[in-house]
Amino acid sequence: MISIILIAPPAAGKGTQSELLVNEYGFAHISTGNLLREMALTDKNISDMLSTGSLISDDIIFNLLEDRLLKDDCKKGFILDGFPRTVSQALEYEKIIKRLGVHTNIAIYLDVSKELALDRTIGRLVCSKCGHVYNEFIAESKPSVLGICDYCNAFLIKRDDDNINVFSKRYDLYCENTYPLLDFYKEKGILYKIDSGIGKDKVFEVIKSIVGDFYD
Ligand code: ADP
Repeated sequence: MISIILIAPPAAGKGTQSELLVNEYGFAHISTGNLLREMALTDKNISDMLSTGSLISDDIIFNLLEDRLLKDDCKKGFILDGFPRTVSQALEYEKIIKRLGVHTNIAIYLDVSKELALDRTIGRLVCSKCGHVYNEFIAESKPSVLGICDYCNAFLIKRDDDNINVFSKRYDLYCENTYPLLDFYKEKGILYKIDSGIGKDKVFEVIKSIVGDFYD
């Protein structure tokens, strides 16, 4: 079982690369943000916290994660998108890895400037039905018809937290809490850094060459 941790600022392309990895290798995609957004449909507290960009408590995150990791689609391997987000979550995750019997654990850092992350956040559109992510400002990520999903014809929507004010808070939280994870995984010798500004297909080529060393 392989565990691939994606680390990056908001909207740097973790979801996009996860989708490509799922299609290529059949791994499970575990996005704590998506799991929380599903929970927010019936939980107003979570919904309020997400729309302000605050971090959700570890109790909730670990409950969601542990349930998700038990599903059959995780048996080959899985991609963690949005988790761990703090060093304390990473430390707790070390125990989970041992329990699950993960044989390969790698962390991939998608490096992107604050300016590009902001552009990608402001332009992000998500399909209301299948969750596919588009960007109205990036040629290679635009839908063919404005506002409509290429795959299921459903409407594209903007996330509540994808605006300039909430972006600033999420970016600050990223710098304060998530950025230190890079040293944590570097010291373990399992960190791979990719410049996410080179375009989604090129980024994926690099990711495949990394994953290919561990998995055929
Ligand atoms: P992005 O990577 O674009 O910022 P995500 O979809 O990963 O967005 O996360 C959206 C929101 O979900 C975060 O701003 C935060 O409120 C919450 N969240 C996601 N993952 C975690 C986590 N591991 N710990 C705490 N909060 C989280």
